[in-house]
Amino acid sequence: MAERLCDSLWRASAIAGPDLIPLQGSHNAQVVIVGGGFTGLSTALHLGKLGISVIVVEAHEIGFGGSGRNVGLANAGVWLEPDQLDSAIGPEAGRTLYNTLAGAPNLVYALIEEYDIQCEAVRNGTLHAGVGKQGLAQLQRRCEQMQTRGAPVQLLESAEAQSRIGSSKFNSALFDPRAGTIQPLSYAHGLAHAAIKEGAKLFDYSPVTSVQPTQDGWIVQTSHGEVRAETVVLATNAYSEHGVKEQARKFVPIFYSQLASKPLTSSQLEQILPNREGVWDTCTVMSSFRLDQQGRLVFGGMGGEGGVLANWASQRVSELFPFLSNVEWDYSWTGQIAYSEDHLPHCQQLQRGLFSVAGYSGRGIGPGTMMGKELAEWFAGKRESLSVPTTILRNIPLRELKRLFYEVGAQTYHLGQKTHALD
Ligand SMILES: Cc1cc2nc3c(=O)[nH]c(=O)nc-3n(C[C@H](O)[C@H](O)[C@H](O)COP(=O)(O)OP(=O)(O)OC[C@H]3O[C@@H](n4cnc5c(N)ncnc54)[C@H](O)[C@@H]3O)c2cc1C
Repeated sequence: MAERLCDSLWRASAIAGPDLIPLQGSHNAQVVIVGGGFTGLSTALHLGKLGISVIVVEAHEIGFGGSGRNVGLANAGVWLEPDQLDSAIGPEAGRTLYNTLAGAPNLVYALIEEYDIQCEAVRNGTLHAGVGKQGLAQLQRRCEQMQTRGAPVQLLESAEAQSRIGSSKFNSALFDPRAGTIQPLSYAHGLAHAAIKEGAKLFDYSPVTSVQPTQDGWIVQTSHGEVRAETVVLATNAYSEHGVKEQARKFVPIFYSQLASKPLTSSQLEQILPNREGVWDTCTVMSSFRLDQQGRLVFGGMGGEGGVLANWASQRVSELFPFLSNVEWDYSWTGQIAYSEDHLPHCQQLQRGLFSVAGYSGRGIGPGTMMGKELAEWFAGKRESLSVPTTILRNIPLRELKRLFYEVGAQTYHLGQKTHALD
């Protein structure tokens, strides 16, 4: 399956990342991190702050994985409804994880401020837009469960939802003022600069080909070098490849594609998302939309085949926003989401000193950043445990079939869908 990043709006508009070189020769560190996305970079930044020596090795360029491809919705919490979270891992662990990730946008925006990361950060909240009776019921449920846990969320009725979004096609929206939008690749580049500032060493174009135990730790081999360390963190999520590709077997990779329009006119911008929230909807085959700093509409949907999605997206946009009936797309790109079986991120200790953090299931900006901070504090002995589940994940049976099921489902939906899901 082809995966395009070269036509990505985020790549075209990102701030420059640090100038890096591939790893060569032998190095030592206390911790080596495989993967230069939000998880790896945040872990490195926080380890550096705590005075722990750390090396990050990235197979491609910083932000090559989900971190440089996502929608940029910096949300609080996980995908699951809070009650589902409690059922999945128990009420006490559920409450801990919920409370930790409720604060994840605070951490993201605090880092952006502390390190002056120019990543188009807007913190005007997100809108989870309701479609149909089931969508409304889902939002009512979520709202009640979140409010019970003290979240400042608000369920907007149809008139307000419609004027906030600029479309008559939604019957409600759950507004979360804790959240916001970012330019995700710029955020990743900014985290990389910040990690270096805190003393971390980063190397790009350094695919890890093997991770082997030694007498007192680990040796991580890349194509042209090696790092010896007591601790290894595999922060490769859906993009696990080369020497760590086995990790990918624990998740179903689901493709999500996005398109970015030409900058909209000022009169169009007055009608769509006047408060600049980011939006995703309640449809089973979900879609999302937001604006970037240049006033481009960034529209996305499940599935990886650009052609079908582009046709569907143009049609869907003109249904949602009739004043955008001739939308022209400048960019399109895809990314892989790592869906774990329980839809939760996990930190697995695979062997003594060897950890893997993954399974964000489409919500990794806040959680990935938060996990990095927690891991660093844990390694430094400053906390006793992590908020995410630490159970070891099993390889997903019939993974390729499951991936195909989602992909074919999304494609069929996009090919066949007219307006029925919006009525
Ligand atoms: C299309 C899309 C939309 C999304 N939208 C949102 C959203 O709006 N909000 C949100 O919160 N989350 C969203 N997510 C999820 C979020 O982007 C991810 O959860 C997050 O980026 C994961 O970060 P990470 O650092 O764990 O992994 P990644 O960013 O995927 O980084 C993993 C890195 O590991 C590297 N790597 C792999 N194998 C090796 C190796 N052998 N050697 C060296 N390096 C290696 C890869 O090259 C990659 O750069 C979305 C994801 C996608 C794909």
